[in-house]
Amino acid sequence: MKKAVFMAVTVFLTLAAPVTLFATSPGKDIPRQAYRISHYCSCSICCGKWSDGRFANNEKTASCTTPTIACNWLPFGTEVVIDGTTYIVRDRGAKKYFGTKTEPKYAFDVYCPEHNDAKNKGIYYTKNVFFKIVFDKPK
Ligand SMILES: [Zn+2]
Repeated sequence: MKKAVFMAVTVFLTLAAPVTLFATSPGKDIPRQAYRISHYCSCSICCGKWSDGRFANNEKTASCTTPTIACNWLPFGTEVVIDGTTYIVRDRGAKKYFGTKTEPKYAFDVYCPEHNDAKNKGIYYTKNVFFKIVFDKPK
Protein backbone atom coordinates (compact mmCIF):
# COMPACT_ATOMS: atom_id res chain seq x y z
CA MET A 1 0.00 0.00 0.00
CA LYS A 2 2.84 2.40 0.75
CA LYS A 3 4.17 1.97 -2.79
CA ALA A 4 0.82 2.88 -4.32
CA VAL A 5 0.63 6.09 -2.32
CA PHE A 6 4.18 7.02 -3.27
CA MET A 7 3.36 6.43 -6.94
CA ALA A 8 0.28 8.65 -6.68
CA VAL A 9 2.47 11.41 -5.26
CA THR A 10 4.95 10.96 -8.10
CA VAL A 11 2.18 11.23 -10.67
CA PHE A 12 1.02 14.50 -9.09
CA LEU A 13 4.55 15.86 -9.24
CA THR A 14 4.93 14.91 -12.89
CA LEU A 15 1.59 16.43 -13.91
CA ALA A 16 2.43 19.72 -12.12
CA ALA A 17 -0.99 21.37 -12.53
CA PRO A 18 -1.43 23.71 -10.05
CA VAL A 19 -2.25 20.76 -7.83
CA THR A 20 -3.06 20.79 -4.16
CA LEU A 21 -1.70 17.74 -2.46
CA PHE A 22 -2.20 16.52 1.06
CA ALA A 23 0.88 14.41 1.39
CA THR A 24 0.23 12.85 4.77
CA SER A 25 -3.37 11.78 4.42
CA PRO A 26 -2.68 8.38 2.90
CA GLY A 27 -5.19 5.98 4.41
CA LYS A 28 -6.12 4.13 7.55
CA ASP A 29 -3.66 1.32 6.89
CA ILE A 30 -0.58 3.54 6.96
CA PRO A 31 0.51 4.73 10.38
CA ARG A 32 0.99 8.47 10.70
CA GLN A 33 4.25 9.99 11.79
CA ALA A 34 4.30 11.81 15.14
CA TYR A 35 5.69 15.33 14.82
CA ARG A 36 7.45 17.24 17.58
CA ILE A 37 5.77 20.64 17.94
CA SER A 38 7.72 23.30 19.81
CA HIS A 39 7.03 27.02 20.26
CA TYR A 40 9.23 30.09 20.00
CA CYS A 41 9.14 33.87 19.72
CA SER A 42 11.53 36.28 18.03
CA CYS A 43 13.39 37.27 21.24
CA SER A 44 17.10 36.70 21.91
CA ILE A 45 16.33 33.86 24.36
CA CYS A 46 14.54 31.91 21.63
CA CYS A 47 16.57 33.01 18.60
CA GLY A 48 19.96 34.20 19.88
CA LYS A 49 21.83 36.09 17.18
CA TRP A 50 18.93 35.51 14.79
CA SER A 51 16.57 37.75 16.80
CA ASP A 52 16.63 40.56 14.22
CA GLY A 53 12.85 41.00 13.89
CA ARG A 54 12.66 39.10 10.63
CA PHE A 55 11.84 35.53 9.66
CA ALA A 56 14.24 33.61 7.44
CA ASN A 57 12.09 34.56 4.42
CA ASN A 58 12.85 38.24 5.28
CA GLU A 59 9.28 39.12 6.34
CA LYS A 60 9.09 41.27 9.49
CA THR A 61 7.89 39.32 12.54
CA ALA A 62 6.00 42.41 13.78
CA SER A 63 3.78 42.53 10.69
CA CYS A 64 2.97 38.80 10.84
CA THR A 65 -0.77 38.30 11.22
CA THR A 66 -1.21 34.65 10.21
CA PRO A 67 0.00 31.50 11.99
CA THR A 68 3.65 30.85 11.19
CA ILE A 69 6.05 27.94 11.61
CA ALA A 70 9.72 27.26 11.14
CA CYS A 71 10.69 24.23 9.04
CA ASN A 72 13.97 23.45 7.28
CA TRP A 73 12.75 21.01 4.63
CA LEU A 74 9.66 22.63 3.11
CA PRO A 75 9.73 25.70 0.83
CA PHE A 76 8.67 29.10 2.23
CA GLY A 77 4.94 29.56 1.74
CA THR A 78 4.06 25.89 2.23
CA GLU A 79 0.89 25.47 4.25
CA VAL A 80 1.00 22.92 7.05
CA VAL A 81 -2.14 22.02 8.98
CA ILE A 82 -1.31 21.04 12.56
CA ASP A 83 -4.21 20.02 14.80
CA GLY A 84 -6.63 21.91 12.58
CA THR A 85 -4.72 25.21 12.38
CA THR A 86 -3.12 26.19 9.06
CA TYR A 87 0.41 27.54 9.42
CA ILE A 88 2.66 29.03 6.75
CA VAL A 89 6.35 28.14 6.58
CA ARG A 90 8.16 31.49 6.95
CA ASP A 91 11.14 30.60 9.11
CA ARG A 92 13.97 28.11 9.58
CA GLY A 93 15.24 26.54 12.79
CA ALA A 94 18.29 24.88 14.32
CA LYS A 95 19.46 21.84 12.32
CA LYS A 96 19.78 19.92 15.59
CA TYR A 97 15.99 19.96 16.07
CA PHE A 98 14.59 20.54 12.59
CA GLY A 99 17.08 18.81 10.32
CA THR A 100 17.87 19.83 6.75
CA LYS A 101 16.30 19.49 3.29
CA THR A 102 18.11 16.19 2.76
CA GLU A 103 17.83 14.96 6.36
CA PRO A 104 14.48 16.24 7.62
CA LYS A 105 13.43 15.85 11.23
CA TYR A 106 9.77 15.36 12.10
CA ALA A 107 9.52 18.67 13.91
CA PHE A 108 8.00 22.12 13.54
CA ASP A 109 8.57 25.30 15.55
CA VAL A 110 5.41 27.37 15.98
CA TYR A 111 5.95 31.14 16.10
CA CYS A 112 4.32 33.01 19.02
CA PRO A 113 4.35 36.83 19.28
CA GLU A 114 4.92 36.68 23.07
CA HIS A 115 7.79 34.86 24.80
CA ASN A 116 5.66 33.75 27.78
CA ASP A 117 3.09 32.31 25.41
CA ALA A 118 5.81 30.29 23.64
CA LYS A 119 7.26 29.15 26.98
CA ASN A 120 3.87 28.10 28.37
CA LYS A 121 2.92 26.14 25.25
CA GLY A 122 6.23 24.27 25.38
CA ILE A 123 6.68 21.07 23.38
CA TYR A 124 4.19 18.36 22.47
CA TYR A 125 3.78 15.59 19.89
CA THR A 126 0.97 15.11 17.39
CA LYS A 127 0.17 12.90 14.41
CA ASN A 128 -2.54 15.29 13.21
CA VAL A 129 -0.42 16.95 10.52
CA PHE A 130 -1.15 17.56 6.83
CA PHE A 131 0.92 19.28 4.18
CA LYS A 132 -0.80 21.45 1.62
CA ILE A 133 1.62 21.76 -1.25
CA VAL A 134 0.66 23.83 -4.28
CA PHE A 135 2.69 23.15 -7.39
CA ASP A 136 2.98 25.88 -9.99
CA LYS A 137 2.74 25.21 -13.69
CA PRO A 138 6.17 24.62 -15.20
CA LYS A 139 7.41 27.53 -17.33
ZN1 LIG B 1 11.27 34.11 23.13
